[in-house]
Amino acid sequence: MNFDYELFIIGAGSAARAAAKRATAYSIHVGIAEQVDVGGPCINYGYIAERLMAYAATLKGLFSSAISYGWSEFNSSFDWSKFIAAKTYKIEQLHQVNMKYLQESGVDFIILKVMLVFSIIIL
Ligand SMILES: Cc1cc2nc3c(=O)[nH]c(=O)nc-3n(C[C@H](O)[C@H](O)[C@H](O)COP(=O)(O)OP(=O)(O)OC[C@H]3O[C@@H](n4cnc5c(N)ncnc54)[C@H](O)[C@@H]3O)c2cc1C
Repeated sequence: MNFDYELFIIGAGSAARAAAKRATAYSIHVGIAEQVDVGGPCINYGYIAERLMAYAATLKGLFSSAISYGWSEFNSSFDWSKFIAAKTYKIEQLHQVNMKYLQESGVDFIILKVMLVFSIIIL
């Protein structure tokens, strides 16, 4: 594999996306190596995943308040496995959006765990 890049980024989280965006605007050849999934913790189990859980949890309260605004009673129950499937689907969509963005910007994306090896020469 050819690793001849002007900018090589370890990890494909939020900072990597911002750095790649800026670098490609200057026509810099960028490579990104990620050990898990594109998007980093923000998409996969941080902000986005948390927000989806928070929205789902808030709906119960909204259903209850809706009655006092003229809605008839909601007889609804919560299905955890359906919620997890919906969350997984949403996160997969975000993976695709990120991958499309990287591909269209000409960034090479590699699934790889990177190890830095330093060699110090003392003269
Ligand atoms: C549960 C949770 C909730 C959060 N909620 C919020 C919020 O509401 N608002 C907010 O602003 N921030 C939130 N954050 C913080 C936010 O997710 C981080 O600040 C942000 O992800 C940092 O981005 P980053 O690109 O610097 O690093 P990261 O997103 O951590 O990306 C680093 C990437 O590098 C990869 N990597 C690491 N080592 C290697 C290696 N050796 N080889 C290859 N790949 C490697 C990792 O797999 C990871 O994908 C939350 C974080 C968590 C965990």
